[in-house]
Amino acid sequence: MLTMADYGSFARWREAPWRRRGADYEALKARITGGLLAMLERRVPGVSERVVLSELSTPITTEGFTGHRGGSIYGLPGTPERYKLTWLGVETPLDELYLTGADAFLHGVVGAMMGGVMTAAKLLGGVRGFGKIMSATNRL
Ligand SMILES: Cc1cc2nc3c(=O)[nH]c(=O)nc-3n(C[C@H](O)[C@H](O)[C@H](O)COP(=O)(O)OP(=O)(O)OC[C@H]3O[C@@H](n4cnc5c(N)ncnc54)[C@H](O)[C@@H]3O)c2cc1C
Repeated sequence: MLTMADYGSFARWREAPWRRRGADYEALKARITGGLLAMLERRVPGVSERVVLSELSTPITTEGFTGHRGGSIYGLPGTPERYKLTWLGVETPLDELYLTGADAFLHGVVGAMMGGVMTAAKLLGGVRGFGKIMSATNRL
């Protein structure tokens, strides 16, 4: 389950090491987990009895593992300003250094996958390279 979370509610634990953030943090996580499972139970009656394990991550978890500011799961905000950044794409000013993944193209898993396609296409000759990849996928 995913839900919105305010980074500020967790920021005071951000410097503490993962899994050693203390009883208050664990208590807050347990409260949120309980609330989410109760919400799920209302939608899917009986599901709680089947939960063997539950684990909650917070914005500081995401920040710690991905380095994304504010613990945003998608990384950079998907704003018009972000998409106007001409330097954020596959090509860089350095010869033979290319970027890929979500930050080089679009947010999320599909955005990251297409970022990979765009980088591969670039290496295979740009628009023609993209055509080659599409033909190969059609053959598959
Ligand atoms: C909890 C959570 C839930 C999500 N749910 C969804 C969802 O439902 N749908 C969706 O579309 N997207 C979702 N996302 C977003 C999605 O996971 C990302 O947009 C996507 O994984 C980005 O892929 P990427 O390859 O660009 O980057 P990443 O998957 O972040 O890969 C970057 C890789 O680079 C490595 N790395 C970083 N720095 C270095 C370094 N200096 N040297 C070597 N390696 C390095 C990292 O370890 C990592 O393996 C979710 C993200 C999170 C955190």
